[in-house]
Amino acid sequence: MSDAAKTFAIDFVERNARGFVTLNDSIFYFGELGVQETRSAGLMTALLEKHGFKVERGISGFATSFMATFGSGAPVIAIHTEYDANPSNSQKPGVAERAEIVPGAPGHCEGHNTNAAVMISSALAIRYAMEKFSLPGTLKIFGASAEEQLLSRPYFVRDGYFDYVDLAFHDHVLDTFGTDYGMMQSAAVSAEFTFHGETAHAAVSPWKGRDALDAVMLMDAGLAQYREHMKPTMTMHRVITKGGEQPNVIPALAACWWYFRDPMAEGARLLFERAQKIAQGAALMANCELEIDVRAAVWPVRLNQTVAEVIQRNVEAVGMPVWTEAENDFARALQKQAKVPEIGLRPKISPLEGPVVQIAASNDCGDVSWKVPMGRIWFPGNVPHLPFHHWSAGAALATSIAHKGGLAGAKALAASVIDYLRDTGLVTQTKASFKAEIGDTVYKPLLPDGQRAPADLNQALMEKFRPAMEAHYIAAQPEFIV
Ligand SMILES: [Zn+2]
Repeated sequence: MSDAAKTFAIDFVERNARGFVTLNDSIFYFGELGVQETRSAGLMTALLEKHGFKVERGISGFATSFMATFGSGAPVIAIHTEYDANPSNSQKPGVAERAEIVPGAPGHCEGHNTNAAVMISSALAIRYAMEKFSLPGTLKIFGASAEEQLLSRPYFVRDGYFDYVDLAFHDHVLDTFGTDYGMMQSAAVSAEFTFHGETAHAAVSPWKGRDALDAVMLMDAGLAQYREHMKPTMTMHRVITKGGEQPNVIPALAACWWYFRDPMAEGARLLFERAQKIAQGAALMANCELEIDVRAAVWPVRLNQTVAEVIQRNVEAVGMPVWTEAENDFARALQKQAKVPEIGLRPKISPLEGPVVQIAASNDCGDVSWKVPMGRIWFPGNVPHLPFHHWSAGAALATSIAHKGGLAGAKALAASVIDYLRDTGLVTQTKASFKAEIGDTVYKPLLPDGQRAPADLNQALMEKFRPAMEAHYIAAQPEFIV
């Protein structure tokens, strides 16, 4: 029975390759920024609903996030991923030189469009395998809005959406096919500090003003002094987002936006606490009022070894796509443009790697990975060495490279989830290994209790470009046939 269910799911993905491609390319051309992914989320939720999932839209206050559920009872397996694009990276697919679809518009330049197609196509394959082979359990699909701003998943965890989940999978595009385990990415708190003062004529009566920009400068000086006393693992970086209008008006409003990071959540929390004190001191010195808005707060990403081993076995069973000479030529042309080694596409899957070396970047799925055991499947939907968030990393995302790599990823992901649905012992074993891995660390969200999702993020930018982008949307609707 076991292999029959997996074979069925893998066949389902393969015979619905056209549905996958249409979904992948539709989301590519939508090119929607975080919190504005209305078309992308709309297409995914419509498909899930059509195929019998119960869909809850707008979870945790994110209009473009969703949770879709199929089945009931234990085990409860979740798949989550993102589908947001980035600003200024509109790029025609299949063209190995800079060629914008809409000049200046946002675009996919990493592959979150393929992440979404992999999640939905494997979800449908698993759902029909569950029905056909009477596999017990619940499948939960989470649409996670605005990953590029580290946003939505800590809210889901804080709001209890993962309370009854046994384990979770995250799928993400890369140029390799495989997985890894261990501490991957760092904790981060992203917060804007806004100071309110009072305007005055800067030449005639500066003594009447209260200078909010002074407070920003003083906070900056305070944190610069504090750098000497930070633990070597801590890092912080900032921009000034508001600094006044013109020199002869004392600024009544000024603001700075900071990121505070550490390999562990506790380190990021301590650093943020220190920064808040320094900001309060700056406000006091400049006689201003202070407002602090936490924009994002994430735990480091850690990947469970047992889930990784399950994923790896299925990746090995599915195998690396066979790339054509034309695909390799296109990859090399892009690598030449990006001035990176011209190695073409990877011919083989990657061995299981772990524990990996932790990096200073962050991802908003970190909170999920401390709440429940989590695995991440990397699928080969993009070209090796291209820098993400550069136009070149967008050029393959609606071509046969993303299609073949994504289909392989969807098959291995579906097969891995089915392994868990048919073996409760494996679920128990995974939970035990997770417990051993996290030790006595207690998960407590870094996100403040009352923090609300930012609804208008990226709104103006998306409204500006959407009309011109709409002309390039593809007409076909993604169809999946049982
Ligand atoms: Zn990403």
